[in-house]
Amino acid sequence: MAATVIDGKAFAAKVRGQVAEHVARLKEEHGITPGLAVVLVGEDPASQVYVRSKGKSTVEVGMNSFEHKLDAGTSEADLLALIDQLNSDPKVHGILVQLPLPGHLDEDLVINSIAPEKDVDGFHISNVGLLGTGQKSMVPCTPLGCLMMLREHHGSLSGLDAVVIGRSNIVGKPMAQLLLGDSCTVTIAHSRTKDLPDVVRRADIVVAAVGRPEMVPGDWIKEGATVIDVGINRIDAPEKGEGKTRLVGDVDYASAAERAGAITPVPGGVGPMTIACLLANTVTAACRANNLAEPE
Ligand code: NDP
Repeated sequence: MAATVIDGKAFAAKVRGQVAEHVARLKEEHGITPGLAVVLVGEDPASQVYVRSKGKSTVEVGMNSFEHKLDAGTSEADLLALIDQLNSDPKVHGILVQLPLPGHLDEDLVINSIAPEKDVDGFHISNVGLLGTGQKSMVPCTPLGCLMMLREHHGSLSGLDAVVIGRSNIVGKPMAQLLLGDSCTVTIAHSRTKDLPDVVRRADIVVAAVGRPEMVPGDWIKEGATVIDVGINRIDAPEKGEGKTRLVGDVDYASAAERAGAITPVPGGVGPMTIACLLANTVTAACRANNLAEPE
C-alpha cells in the first residue's frame, strides 16, 4: 500500500496560524509583541536565504523581526557585544545566530553567550542539559518539528523502536532525546555504525539526518514504518535542463514510499516545520519572560 505523505507544509501552516492567534492575544490582552532577533555574520548565500525567510515568516505572524547583518570580518568581541545588547533588550524575546559562523569565530562561545531563555534555537549548553534531563527548555526547532509530525501521525510513540541516523548537536542528538522523552526505544546511528541497513530495518520510526542524497534505500525500511527525512541536498537535475538542480532528502523517496506507512517529502516535509517551530519557540520565550501561560 502506498505510504501516507506527511504534509509538513500544511502542518506548518496550521502551526503558524496558531502562533499568529497567540501573538494577537498577547498584543491585545497584554500589550506584548514577541520579537525575534536574527544575527547573520558574512554573506553565505544559503544563510542569507534562511535569514530572509525567517524574517518574513516572523513578520507574517505579527511578531517583530530584528535583523542584524554583520561583515564577515566582524570580531568576536563585537559579535559578543551585540548579543549582550540583545540579551538585555526587553523587546527581543528570541535570539538566533545563523550558523555556520565564519571560521575565526568560536561557535560554542557565541551560542553560549545567548541568554538561555532567549535561545530559541535551543543550542545553548543549558538548554541541551535541560532537554537531556527532561526539564523545561528551549527545544531545537528541526527535531521539535519532526516530533510534532510524529505525534500528529501516531498519537502515542510509547514503546516504538526509533532509529535516528546522524548524531549532530543540532538534529540527531536532540531528536534522540525527544524520542526517548516520548518513551521510544532509541538507537542513534552514525558513520561508524555497523550493519546500518539491519539497524534501520528494525525501526518503526526512521529519522534520517545525514546530509547524503538518497542514501537510505527503500529496502532498508521496515514495512509500515514512519520515515522522517531531515536531509536537504541539492543535486544536478539534467532532466530539467542544462545546469538545473533539485532538492532531495537523505532517503530515496520513491522506493521508501513503497514500503513505509508514512513518509515526509523533500521539499515540503521537515523544512517548513523548522521555521514554524522557531516562531512557536519565540512566542514561548515571550510568554515565559512575562510569566504568562505558554502555548501548548
Ligand atoms: P552533520 O553533518 O552535522 O551530521 C551528519 C551526521 O550524519 C553525522 O553524525 C555523521 O556521522 C552522519 N553520517 C555521515 N555519513 C554517514 C553514513 N554514511 N552513514 C551513517 N551516518 C552518516 O549534519 P546536520 O545534522 O547538520 O544535518 C543533516 C542533514 O539535515 C543535512 O542534509 C542538512 O542540510 C539537513 N538539515 C535540515 C534542516 C531542515 O530544516 N529540514 C535543518 C538542519 C539540517 P559522524 O558523526 O560519525 O560523522
